[in-house]
Amino acid sequence: MTASKDSENFDVIIVGAGPAGSAAALVTARAGLKVLLIERGEYPGAKNVSGAVFYGSAILEKLIPNWWEDAPVERHVTRRDLVLLSPTTSISLDFRSSSAGYVEPPYNGFTILRPKFDRWFAEQAEAAGAFLLCSTVVDDVIREDGQVVGVKVRRDEGEIRGDVVIACDGVNSWLARKAGMQRDLHTHELSLGVKEVIGLDEAAIRERFQLSGDEGMALEYVGAVTGNVHGGAFLYTNKNSLSLGVLGQLSSLVEQKTRPYDLLEGFKSHPAIAPLVRGGTLREYSAHLIPEAGWYMFPQLFSDGMLVAGDAAGFCLATGLYIEGINYAMQSGLAAGQTAVEACKRREYSRYTLSLYMDVLRERHVLTDFRAYRHAPKFVNGERLQNVYPEMAARASESLFRVDGSRKQKLLPLYWRTLRQVGAKPHHVVQDLFQVARAYLW
Ligand SMILES: Cc1cc2nc3c(=O)[nH]c(=O)nc-3n(C[C@H](O)[C@H](O)[C@H](O)COP(=O)(O)OP(=O)(O)OC[C@H]3O[C@@H](n4cnc5c(N)ncnc54)[C@H](O)[C@@H]3O)c2cc1C
Repeated sequence: MTASKDSENFDVIIVGAGPAGSAAALVTARAGLKVLLIERGEYPGAKNVSGAVFYGSAILEKLIPNWWEDAPVERHVTRRDLVLLSPTTSISLDFRSSSAGYVEPPYNGFTILRPKFDRWFAEQAEAAGAFLLCSTVVDDVIREDGQVVGVKVRRDEGEIRGDVVIACDGVNSWLARKAGMQRDLHTHELSLGVKEVIGLDEAAIRERFQLSGDEGMALEYVGAVTGNVHGGAFLYTNKNSLSLGVLGQLSSLVEQKTRPYDLLEGFKSHPAIAPLVRGGTLREYSAHLIPEAGWYMFPQLFSDGMLVAGDAAGFCLATGLYIEGINYAMQSGLAAGQTAVEACKRREYSRYTLSLYMDVLRERHVLTDFRAYRHAPKFVNGERLQNVYPEMAARASESLFRVDGSRKQKLLPLYWRTLRQVGAKPHHVVQDLFQVARAYLW
């Protein structure tokens, strides 16, 4: 489509065609509004990076019934492993389920490849009537009397006007900062993820991960995998490839002078991982930032004429138990879209009307979930959880399961001795138990 200054005035302009932007475009276009979705990539998803497991199937089901039949999904996830790694040992919490929510539609989660998925999702918004403008970078907002009334784009049109602008331009949102709604982020609030897609035969995937049919598996790792860098790793099964990667807190990568690519190489050669990726061929390499501080890094979410959604708003829940950004991007995109529809109905675009966004975010459990887990990101990136406890668990398990004729120790003295070996003090353990309870239990 073409959009020119004189001819075009949109009801809603959405910047960024990731899951947040396309969700906002879908809901506003379906309400009959004139919607422009602007994407800097050659096509939506062209450069977008996630692991990825998409846990928003039930959300999408309400918008597009039986969406997975048409969408480019890889496998539905029936197994999840949380794995503690030391250099020589791995200990897993292995979750498998054959209950209806996991093995029957709409399924709990799907592995996806973002370039295909994002393209498909943006097409749904286009089919609903949204205009998609690709290969277009938005540089700034247009303001009149303190109100955002459009955006400045890096092409002939120059300026495009709209009643509501929704920033869905991802982590480190340029637009939210230009509008004065987000500050510069600290390096401890961001992680850098590096990821590879490794091609592997379907039969080998089923055999190595004990899967049948289109069942899939998600493995998440903490411990020695990132050395002294605070972070973790993941491995997800696609149809005929594996997605695997390492996340490292930016401040910690800098302090430790570590290159993320070296961590990824170390991860792939770990004795617990190497047999899983053996014989695979590298298809793709990518890197991307993740907003990880949750509740404490939210920007101003609404202002006169503007809303912020998805990663741009810091809505990525990274608690060690979950890395869920795509589903929250969708939920917040839908919430922003609903708010814009209401504002257009009232023809009132002030911050007072747009503050309705907060209520819809609560109804969609975005703000409530992030508030509930607000202490978790800091705890999960703490030194002892990252390095000391995984090492302790690995050493204790090695002793526990070794049979070499020496005296068997009971569990309490065994764990006590191992704790001291790895340098943890009893008062640290008490402090950390309190932190666990605060972060995850109540
Ligand atoms: C390595 C890694 C693994 C992850 N794994 C998972 C996972 O397994 N599950 C999960 O739920 N989440 C995961 N996440 C998080 C998830 O990727 C994000 O939370 C999610 O992509 C956020 O969606 P979004 O639409 O807000 O932003 P994005 O997906 O980042 O989309 C932003 C869009 O805006 C466009 N854009 C940016 N600036 C401009 C501009 N100035 N003008 C025009 N267009 C612009 C971009 O090109 C992009 O298309 C992972 C992230 C990483 C990096």
